Amino acid sequence: MEEKYICSPKAYVSRTQREAVNGHKSFVLWLTGLSGSGKSTIAHLLEQRLHEEGIRSYVLDGDNVRRGLCSDLSFTPVARRENMRRISELGKLYVDAGIICICAFISPLREDRAMIREIVGAEDYIEVFVNCPVELCEQRDAKGYYRLAREGKIKNYTGVSALYEPPLDCSLIIPTERLDVCQSVNLLYTHLKPRL
Ligand code: ADP
Repeated sequence: MEEKYICSPKAYVSRTQREAVNGHKSFVLWLTGLSGSGKSTIAHLLEQRLHEEGIRSYVLDGDNVRRGLCSDLSFTPVARRENMRRISELGKLYVDAGIICICAFISPLREDRAMIREIVGAEDYIEVFVNCPVELCEQRDAKGYYRLAREGKIKNYTGVSALYEPPLDCSLIIPTERLDVCQSVNLLYTHLKPRL
């Protein structure tokens, strides 16, 4: 990995000053888990809760990233890694801007998540595993993709025809099989509170 660069070497306003004005710290909150495990749902409700408290955050997920910044990328392992790299670099800029960046991505591979941690910086990176058995994710099939993957109409679909490696060293596990949406967001919020 190349030597880390300073985000804004010529800036007159530092991250610390931005955080002081905002009244909270900034970091990247990274939600990993299978499709349908609940990442986006939790991310957006957390963002709403933080917003109500005057805490600046922004959600990055497939919906906003894959349409623009990463619209040129496919779903091969190499393209997925590049997708993760770009999002991590964006997250790092959010952190420098004093904003909490909530990232909701399957991010299935440990190696790729290690890269994300490296780019963002371990001290600014909080990894959360949104854990739900594939059978239940498939039952939920929020986007209808599991059915298409089973029919072979989508290739390399995580949990069906592509590997998901659960984190070994994450900061928090949210078991969405056992918790409802509200309990899941509360658990996450309580976990983050000391970091704000
Ligand atoms: P992902 O972003 O991981 O692909 P989504 O958030 O889009 O998943 O979809 C998850 C689905 O599971 C939603 O329909 C949501 O209402 C449902 N769900 C059930 N229990 C939970 C929970 N505890 N946390 C989050 N979502 C849940």
